[in-house]
Amino acid sequence: MQITVYDGADTIGGNKVLLEDGGVNLFFDFGINFHLRNQYFEEYLVPRSRRGLLDIFHVGLLPPLRGIYREDSAPSDIDVWSRIRLPYPVREIELHGVLLSHAHLDHSGHISFLRHDIPVITSLCTAYIAKAIQDSSKSDFEKEVCYLIPKVESEDGLLQSGDWRKCPAEQRPFGICDCDPASRETGFWQVLPGARGITPRGLKKTQAVEGLAIKAFPVDHSIFGATAFAVETSQGWVIYTGDIRLHGKHGYLTKAFAEAARALHPLALICEGTYVDAKEAVDEATVHQRAMEVVQKHQTLVVADFGPRHLERLLTFRDIAKDCGRRLVVTSKDIYLLEAAALATDLVTPPEQDETILLYKEPRRLERWEEDIHTRYAARCVTPIDLKRNGADYILCFSFWDISELIEIDPEPGAVYIYSSSEAFDEEQRFDIARLRNWLNLFGMRPVGVPDTRTGKPRGREKGFHASGHITGPDLMELIGIINPEVVIPVHTENHEFFRRNIPPHKLRLPTRGVPIVL
Ligand SMILES: [Zn+2]
Repeated sequence: MQITVYDGADTIGGNKVLLEDGGVNLFFDFGINFHLRNQYFEEYLVPRSRRGLLDIFHVGLLPPLRGIYREDSAPSDIDVWSRIRLPYPVREIELHGVLLSHAHLDHSGHISFLRHDIPVITSLCTAYIAKAIQDSSKSDFEKEVCYLIPKVESEDGLLQSGDWRKCPAEQRPFGICDCDPASRETGFWQVLPGARGITPRGLKKTQAVEGLAIKAFPVDHSIFGATAFAVETSQGWVIYTGDIRLHGKHGYLTKAFAEAARALHPLALICEGTYVDAKEAVDEATVHQRAMEVVQKHQTLVVADFGPRHLERLLTFRDIAKDCGRRLVVTSKDIYLLEAAALATDLVTPPEQDETILLYKEPRRLERWEEDIHTRYAARCVTPIDLKRNGADYILCFSFWDISELIEIDPEPGAVYIYSSSEAFDEEQRFDIARLRNWLNLFGMRPVGVPDTRTGKPRGREKGFHASGHITGPDLMELIGIINPEVVIPVHTENHEFFRRNIPPHKLRLPTRGVPIVL
């Protein structure tokens, strides 16, 4: 049995961890390594979809494994395999499945390049959220996680989407590991607004792949549906945490996972280490309390900015709005995601039954996926004019990418902008913060929790408006202590030193990208 960390070995995100045992091959996650991707690409300089795998291979974003990638994505006039520059050999394998821990793109995105018939095994909630993200995004060949538009080569050798009547879109086979999908059958999986000609597939309950038993455990992270896995190999149980934390609202799930994993007497624990530098973390209750104080103090419009898809934070602001006698105004994308999550987990109330939630009515043409939402929420729409006139009645959920909508609203000076998102880690993000501050100055808005433009971190009293999705160092050591594996393999971290310091050498296997760890 061997485990090869093809990506995520010494970087945050892009996890692609191959488990091989007796001819059965499984990946834990198959995400986009944004750190590496950002070294070559940016918003307007992107991999060229007309050349399929070529650009992605050339910059080293995919493991050199023949037999696992889409055949329609290799241009015929060039051998893409000759472009692989990674310092380890090209191998040929059959891939039997991807165990997907959660729907963040740094864990799921590059499933897009895998063959269309490779099963993705995940929780029902992750499947639904991943589909909702794809349905509500512009079509993008790096984000075909749930279904794909087959490519055909034109006469001049360029790859492009074919005529849907001849090559219809295809849905990937998804296996559901945390429940019997038939018990929550809703039809959502079969409705594919952006995929023409598709024949929808059902969801299959999956608890083993090619004879290897799989257990799934719900864990707490900054997206609903996050799952840790245990795979029973010939040498013992291998546990994969995905992204986890103990300090979130549902930290009890992570604790219960650790207890259950311990009972398996695991051989190996593959764990994340994003935030191990931190000794303690701001929790969601603190975010709630701090933001609530701000909302109560101001009789103006409040804009809450948190990352897109962060439904738990959205629900924190829903509770604040309710407690302060305001209503929460969200975009149709938020409603679509909330509805998808509510179909799969009882942790989310269907937004249609939640009187506090209203829909922001943008002055623009609607996409197909959102038409139905605008019909159903017609009586619960809020216009930019409402937000200008009666700002103190609302909390508006926007992210940085919605900021130009403020021009429509033209908020009264003194309106509050609460930044409830992560710090700005790199130079590009600090530029975004500088841009955000320019916008807020333009409208005379009051920034709360907005990071410092130079350091990227919030200062003094501006702290406490964001809780990390990742486990702290002391909490991770507690978790490892409970699980008590024979060996620990850290991934999704830049801090190998933490693990060297805290785990005895005979128990620690620090991975090198592409080098198998034999167990
Ligand atoms: Zn994540």
